[in-house]
Amino acid sequence: MSADSRPPLLQLTGVWRSYPAGDQPIDALKDVSLSIEAGEMVAIIGQSGSGKSTLMNILGCLDRPSRGSYKIAGRAVLEMTPDDLAALRRQHFGFIFQRYHLLPDLDAQGNVEAPAIYAGAPARSRRDRAVALLTRLGLADRLNHRPSQLSGGQQQRVSVARALMNGGEVILADEPTGALDTKSGGEIMKILQELNAEGHTIILVTHDPKVAENARRIIEISDGEILSDRRNGPAHSVKRPGETLKFADKERLTALVARLGDAFHMALLAMNAHRLRTVLTMLGVIIGIASVVSILAIVGGAQKSIMTSVGSMGSDTVNILAGASAGDTRVAQTRGLRPSDLSVLAGQPYIDSVSPTIVTSRLVRAGSASGNGTINGVGEQYFRVQNTKLAQGRMFDAAAVTAAAQEAVIDDKAAKKLFENRDPLGQTILLGNVPLRVVGVTAKAEGMNVIFQGSKLQVWAPYTTVMARMVRQPDVSQISVRLADGVSTPAAETAITNALITEHGKQDFFLRSSDSMRKQLGQITLIFSLLLGSIGGISLFVGGIGVMNIMLVSVSERTREIGVRTAVGARRSDIMSQFMIEAVLVCLIGGALGIGLSFMIAAIFSLLVKTFQLVYSAWSVLLALGISTLVGLVFGWLPARNAAALDPVDALARE
Ligand code: ADP
Ligand code: MG
Repeated sequence: MSADSRPPLLQLTGVWRSYPAGDQPIDALKDVSLSIEAGEMVAIIGQSGSGKSTLMNILGCLDRPSRGSYKIAGRAVLEMTPDDLAALRRQHFGFIFQRYHLLPDLDAQGNVEAPAIYAGAPARSRRDRAVALLTRLGLADRLNHRPSQLSGGQQQRVSVARALMNGGEVILADEPTGALDTKSGGEIMKILQELNAEGHTIILVTHDPKVAENARRIIEISDGEILSDRRNGPAHSVKRPGETLKFADKERLTALVARLGDAFHMALLAMNAHRLRTVLTMLGVIIGIASVVSILAIVGGAQKSIMTSVGSMGSDTVNILAGASAGDTRVAQTRGLRPSDLSVLAGQPYIDSVSPTIVTSRLVRAGSASGNGTINGVGEQYFRVQNTKLAQGRMFDAAAVTAAAQEAVIDDKAAKKLFENRDPLGQTILLGNVPLRVVGVTAKAEGMNVIFQGSKLQVWAPYTTVMARMVRQPDVSQISVRLADGVSTPAAETAITNALITEHGKQDFFLRSSDSMRKQLGQITLIFSLLLGSIGGISLFVGGIGVMNIMLVSVSERTREIGVRTAVGARRSDIMSQFMIEAVLVCLIGGALGIGLSFMIAAIFSLLVKTFQLVYSAWSVLLALGISTLVGLVFGWLPARNAAALDPVDALARE
């Protein structure tokens, strides 16, 4: 048939296509051999169910033969990869379907531009060409109409423009007039004839003999077999080859960005189309991220609080307590800690300052004002040991301790409660019935000290006074030591232990350093954060499953869209990235809302709780966004892979 030596444009040899159906497979095509030259206009005619669409889908590389060979310009289709086939559809073929198969969320121009996006055409030339094609097809005033706002004939003209977008060397039209009235159908046929006259190869499927008469060659098929193949005019169009304006595939970065941008746009459209569903899907991620971020903030706050309180005690404090360990009930039987131990410790070179503490409770009165107080019997160096600051006055001195003087330092709460706006210095307070003169007021407590001290009024008096006039016992509850600068805590602990064992004859005391306390508190925070973190993790996991679930629904709802995109040349990776982007976007927006929610919780929390503040770091916000992205990638992967694996023919067949 071909006069020149080039291989035919499209060549089928002994092609079979069987569909599995029960135990007897259906042969939709039986041993079909056929070749089509460039520039032909062929009509394939036959009754419904005769195998026309099956043939068309094989010619358009949407489907593959079960047996036999199909060569395009001499290249065997069987040897091509899915991406090769996508490139072929994108660059050389243009599809026109009976039901138009436009993307409902995009306007006319957007639909026409779609194939060029997959080909990586620059935005400007893409737009210009889409507008030019639509104008040529008489749709200049319908550029921004959605398919639902267009008539059938107009929609079909949009799909013709789409078929021509990347050149459309070979146009495959399956019942293009099937859903149109006679007038619109006639117009479409006229356009196809014009395109053929310009050099496009046109393959047309129809059951209508009148429509088939428009072609130069008519192939009749029945029950999967070719009945007749006859000429109906000159073999080729006048002009050859086809239209030259064609977007070459560009694998540059800008092209990739354009494709991702389009996928992003489609994801936004899809999310917007199902707003309520999207928000509900996000809810799991919102809650998950809000809890993770809040946990990080709580841990941050707790750590900061521990640091300030341990820091305010002096990072190098060691407390000595009577007994073998905390909670030892045999304290009474042991010797206990005596003021005499003080002089032993005070003589050690690694000790900066030392103070005993003996604690009791009394009603504290001044004039008519009173409150429950914690009475701390301490040494003159106590505030140096504990690193406590005075706001007013002074600490009682060593002479006052020796003399068991009736002097006291009170905290800011006590000053306010007992004296309101009067100057407390020089005033007398009554601890039970023991009168003491106020010589100093401490500054406001910070960090965990606020919690340790609670709401009780704090009074510090010489321990000698407290022991002699209030408690009447020979032991003190604890001795606090501040180590000299540069002394290592563990070494000092060993030295203190040895010194006291020498004094007591046995170890009937134990040490607790600020260092070990910090470690202990750190462990408690760690346990808490692991506990809370696993709750956050579980809600994120549940949220992720919700995202996956909805994405699977979304994929099955948009099967036809996926088929259309594949037909216009989308690669599997394009389909995959579209759904991945949607999943990641849902999770990222959910994550951002979750962070916002966490900030709101923190704001409310800080109004209610004054002593403890949540600490947010830029790091935790970034981490949360990172986790959101990861959740999207992990849980979006399966649905996206399902979408990319869809068979285009099946996808298009679904309504
Ligand atoms: P036409 O387009 O001429 O109406 P088709 O090519 O769609 O015909 O179908 C040809 C035959 O193949 C029919 O008998 C049809 O039932 C069968 N067929 C088509 N697609 C499938 C499929 N996906 N699975 C099973 N049978 C199919
Ligand atoms: Mg059909």
